[in-house]
Amino acid sequence: MPPPKHAEGTHRMTVPVLETENLVKIYGRGETRFDALKGINLEIGKGESLAIVGKSGSGKSTLMHLLALLDGPTHGVVALEGRPTNDLGAKELNELRNSAFGFVFQQFFLTPGQTVLENVTLPLKIAGVPAAERKRRGLEALDQLEMADKAQNKATDLSGGQKQRVVIARALINNPSVIFADEPTGNLDSATSRVVEDILFGLNREKGITLVIVTHDTDLARRCQRQIYLVDGQIVPNPEEEAGDVVDTPARPEARETADRGGVTVKEPETGAIVTLSQADLAELARGAQRPPHTGKHAAADPHTPEQPGATA
Ligand code: ADP
Ligand code: MG
Repeated sequence: MPPPKHAEGTHRMTVPVLETENLVKIYGRGETRFDALKGINLEIGKGESLAIVGKSGSGKSTLMHLLALLDGPTHGVVALEGRPTNDLGAKELNELRNSAFGFVFQQFFLTPGQTVLENVTLPLKIAGVPAAERKRRGLEALDQLEMADKAQNKATDLSGGQKQRVVIARALINNPSVIFADEPTGNLDSATSRVVEDILFGLNREKGITLVIVTHDTDLARRCQRQIYLVDGQIVPNPEEEAGDVVDTPARPEARETADRGGVTVKEPETGAIVTLSQADLAELARGAQRPPHTGKHAAADPHTPEQPGATA
């Protein structure tokens, strides 16, 4: 793919870990048609940190879901390590996602009744890794976040910042090449946010993990090497010059209402639906179920989501 025009002069890329070509996402059809992404060309370099910024409804979550291979585009291509992903089946996509990506969302989505170690090693359990190795790798990940002494605590016994560290440990457990973070500090006070951010950027610097961060927080966005601004499903070069206040004010209640809802997000193998696993779902998975249950809440839990009935988990 040719380099996207908007990337000129912003960042020297090596081999892109992710690239998109003319990415279009249309929800619904006819009268309810909504063009959420209108042709996104983007390259994300290995080891880069990228902030995706824009008002609520501008397409940030949609773009992140497509980049993370949680949903497919209507048109266009997402390539991972130079390999187009359009033709991959659900099983391959699930495996790829489980091995290449880590997810850190605003809500913590830890299973309360389970220990910190069990929560952190859940992705390994899903991948079929034996118990002894799960424990070893789980403790190693917790150690990196200075949480090893809490391994046997229940997840509920932790502060918000500690919970988010556990979520990061879980995101790290498969040595991902990319961590996708959707409002990772949205529920944290500013001091704790700073700690969680420092951990994410430390992983970026020291382990070369690529960060893709959706955020309303201008300070967090500025800490990233590069920012892209979405307006109505398109990347704009510099929103301050054109539209003024593009960044959301999180204080707006309706913005909070429609802000990205987090969770452990997977693609349902049978139906192809994208589900965000609730705590109960995670507990069920952890008890040995091999695939996400149908009761999961849709990740794109916007009020406009058409296939919502029944998703009241
Ligand atoms: P952001 O994360 O920037 O708030 P989203 O990517 O969640 O924006 O949504 C972009 C637009 O697409 C919004 O107008 C939203 O209502 C719409 N949208 C998102 N998901 C769906 C869906 N499943 N069905 C219909 N419209 C959707
Ligand atoms: Mg969103």
